[in-house]
Amino acid sequence: MITLKELLRDPVYRKYFLTKPRLYGQYNDFPDFKPWALAIQKQPHGQWAYKDYHDFMEAFNKLKKYVPVLNDAAIISKATGCPPPRVNVAVEGKFFVRGKKKIQVTQREDWRVSLPMGEDARHRWCPFCRRPTVFTTFIYHPRFPSSKSNGMLLDPDMPRCTICGASENLVSTELKFLK
Ligand SMILES: [Zn+2]
Repeated sequence: MITLKELLRDPVYRKYFLTKPRLYGQYNDFPDFKPWALAIQKQPHGQWAYKDYHDFMEAFNKLKKYVPVLNDAAIISKATGCPPPRVNVAVEGKFFVRGKKKIQVTQREDWRVSLPMGEDARHRWCPFCRRPTVFTTFIYHPRFPSSKSNGMLLDPDMPRCTICGASENLVSTELKFLK
């Protein structure tokens, strides 16, 4: 999976990641709820660890401190998804003429990651992890440790986000809602 450090080399994602996100839901009625989780992976292919935070900046500052020694990370918005950044993309072969100038026609689209050569093709935008992640199937997911201790298996046919465990169904519904 592409790592946060690799993602931050992309100027569009970098700007997105360094901007404090707006939360679409309000949690004032739930003072105990911590809407943010910092997910970190110390070693490539290693286990993910999670810690919840009330405040985005608290999670962000923690991550900033540890990012040089981590393999990968995400700041998860636990209850409310965030749409991907939007970019202007050239419409191939479409131009208009202003005076003597030929001007490329562009349209607004969701930003999409350019994956490094040989990278897993199953990346998609996770609105909760606020980044592209690999969606694949799990029987146990580290985000739901109790499922393992209860001996409960996750649906083996439903792809889930590698980092936050959100199912593809939930992610598709959330992204439609955010449109
Ligand atoms: Zn996710």
